[in-house]
Amino acid sequence: MDFSVLKTDAQGLIPVVAQDYYTNQVLMVAFMNEEAFKRTLETKQATYYSRSRESLWLKGETSGHFQEVKQVLVDCDNDTLVLKVIQKGPACHTGEQSCFHRAIDMETGELVEFKGGDSADVLKDVYNVIVDRKINPKEGSYTNYLFDKGIDKILKKVGEETAEIIIGAKNPGKEEMVYEIADLFYHLMVLMVEKEASLEDIYKELDKRR
Ligand code: AMP
Ligand code: ZN
Ligand code: ZN
Ligand code: ZN
Repeated sequence: MDFSVLKTDAQGLIPVVAQDYYTNQVLMVAFMNEEAFKRTLETKQATYYSRSRESLWLKGETSGHFQEVKQVLVDCDNDTLVLKVIQKGPACHTGEQSCFHRAIDMETGELVEFKGGDSADVLKDVYNVIVDRKINPKEGSYTNYLFDKGIDKILKKVGEETAEIIIGAKNPGKEEMVYEIADLFYHLMVLMVEKEASLEDIYKELDKRR
């Protein structure tokens, strides 16, 4: 598709929403001119036009927080793009995963911190803590206890937690089952770190099947 199909503003720019390919979290909004658009498609690395610096901007060029572009969506009237990206590190220069880490409280009208944008972040955060424990063992850490005992112990826990889910699910209500599923998720991630499997490996596998 040619850039001329797109409706730009008076400066030849089109707004672009970057969205996380795996979690659908909205990451940031920036602008593209024709050159940025072409480079993005050629290199598959999100490249914008910085209105403040008045120059092309390869996202991640100084921070290393690049965006690998998996899909480019065009809206109904050709005046906005959505990039589905694999985000390396945080998208926001503040270090927040998303630029949209604040919200307006609809009751009070006040600006408040907002971290609930992507509950899948919790998995990522826990996974990252487990990786960190593996690299930097911590005194008294249960995760390090599991790593020290080795894979057979981890597998035994996975089996136990699975059995506990079955028991929990037989009871009325969801609370007990939810608790046990959280336990299983944690132990599965310990197993994944032990076997050097990433969350992305799992997302990719699931994605293949839809
Ligand atoms: P980066 O492209 O991530 O290497 O960042 C380079 C510069 O671009 C930063 O110092 C910020 O000034 C700016 N920047 C990076 N990410 C964002 C963002 N998500 N929104 C606005 N400005 C950004
Ligand atoms: Zn529409
Ligand atoms: Zn539109
Ligand atoms: Zn930001």
